[in-house]
Amino acid sequence: MSEPLDVLAIAAHRDDVELTCGGTLAKVARAGHRVGIVDLTQGEMGTRGSAERRAAEAERAARTLGVALRTNMGFPDAHLANDDASRAAIVNVLRELRPRVVILPFPIGRHPDHRIASEVARDACYLAGLAKYAPVAGAEPHRPFKILYALAYREDPVKPSFVVDISDTFETKMAAIRCYASQFDGALAAGEIFPTGQDLYELIRVQSAHYGSLIRRPYGEPFFTHETVAVDDILALGVQSL
Ligand SMILES: [Zn+2]
Repeated sequence: MSEPLDVLAIAAHRDDVELTCGGTLAKVARAGHRVGIVDLTQGEMGTRGSAERRAAEAERAARTLGVALRTNMGFPDAHLANDDASRAAIVNVLRELRPRVVILPFPIGRHPDHRIASEVARDACYLAGLAKYAPVAGAEPHRPFKILYALAYREDPVKPSFVVDISDTFETKMAAIRCYASQFDGALAAGEIFPTGQDLYELIRVQSAHYGSLIRRPYGEPFFTHETVAVDDILALGVQSL
């Protein structure tokens, strides 16, 4: 068995995690933690490029972010389902990688795959802790301690539970996104990002700057947790009120 992961990001398509939490993954990896990415589909339904080209781009993006591993579940793109076979397959991967923190897409999404990826992965995180669910010889049950939902680009009236300051890794995030030239060069929209007429790369910068402004920093990535965030020392709380 390999060393457990500190953080695992799971998403529907190659390039999803770069768009929503790439700066955070790069920041955690840079701090010396073990980070992984699981893409559920190969992106074969994408209008631009091919699944093979996206595979090569995803590999380069993972190296750019500094993550330890990236795997692909090979589920059918645009046909993701929260069914028993999909849950069991993700459970297997969770028991192998044993992440402490899992980052998922927000459970509301423009693309149905994003919404279903969030649900199927969340359910698998719970089921992976049940010893009698889909047992495989040599694999111990494992339930991740924490689930975070990446909230970037969502317009629902949900306030981020917190924003990660990605000012130091924003350029790394953009370099990882630029690895997907087949998807994004000349694009005006992507995933959950609606077009404004601006270049997609500029649009991501503007959005990241907005999230950064919420914590009075140049760039940020927003997250949501159902649980309340605990604070030890109220004197150490950042973000000026007045
Ligand atoms: Zn996507």
